[in-house]
Amino acid sequence: MHKTYLNADLHCHSVISDGTLTPEQLARRAADRGVQLWSLTDHDEISGQDRAMAAARECGLDYLTGTEISASFAGNTIHIVGLGFDHRNPALLEGLHSIRHGRAPRARQMAEALEQAGIPGSYEGALRHAGNPELISRTHFARFLVEAGHCSDTYEVFRRYLAEGLPGYVPHSWARLGDAVRWITGAGGVAVIAHPARYELSANEEYALFYEFKTHGGQGVEVVTGSHRPSEYATYADMAREFGLAASRGSDFHSPEESHTDLGSLPALPSQLTPVWELLEKRVIRA
Ligand SMILES: [Zn+2]
Ligand SMILES: [Zn+2]
Repeated sequence: MHKTYLNADLHCHSVISDGTLTPEQLARRAADRGVQLWSLTDHDEISGQDRAMAAARECGLDYLTGTEISASFAGNTIHIVGLGFDHRNPALLEGLHSIRHGRAPRARQMAEALEQAGIPGSYEGALRHAGNPELISRTHFARFLVEAGHCSDTYEVFRRYLAEGLPGYVPHSWARLGDAVRWITGAGGVAVIAHPARYELSANEEYALFYEFKTHGGQGVEVVTGSHRPSEYATYADMAREFGLAASRGSDFHSPEESHTDLGSLPALPSQLTPVWELLEKRVIRA
């Protein structure tokens, strides 16, 4: 018999990437909000996994290891969530390291572009928020721009400066889709397409993404996520059925001040989908 979870939250970020809470604070918050199965999915980084696991146990949460890998596909950046992998797997660690390597030079270019747009000092400002040049991201720049009074919130920063085609946008070549999927599956985990409605893909490109993802060994897709509108749950429930993918659910929570969707607050997965944790029963770390 499968163990079913009414409240699984398999996507969130801590201070180890671009969130503002520690793994311990997130575990507490998840437990207080009724989460039963939890995963911490920091961007391109798994050094928080031991802390998250210990905190989950402390708070009575079942746990799956997690990460969110940035991958390039058809000129877009796609995010692939990995769940239930061995977080000491050398090929996975090496792969994640190779992606993080590109972040610091990209951040320097973003800062130069922002300087030309009249915003000085953003590299130092973003680095203060990130703590480590290997983990510096657009979110850290956004926090600095708000702090320095250039914008009123981080959404405005993305709208005015950091999205594709705007002055502070600098493309970066992340992992290839197939590499990201294989690092996860090679470490015993399940690869999941994160929040598919968020990418600006044509219908053909989206179909190609799902098709290639599946060909590389990907097995899941986020259907209910803080980044989807309710109408999009049904769209991606259909895509999950069409491609034979398991369904995942996660808030993508980053911060109490910035995130619209709190841990554990999403509706249940639509019925007649295979929840992704059914593929990972042996990988769940029981509290
Ligand atoms: Zn993030
Ligand atoms: Zn995320």
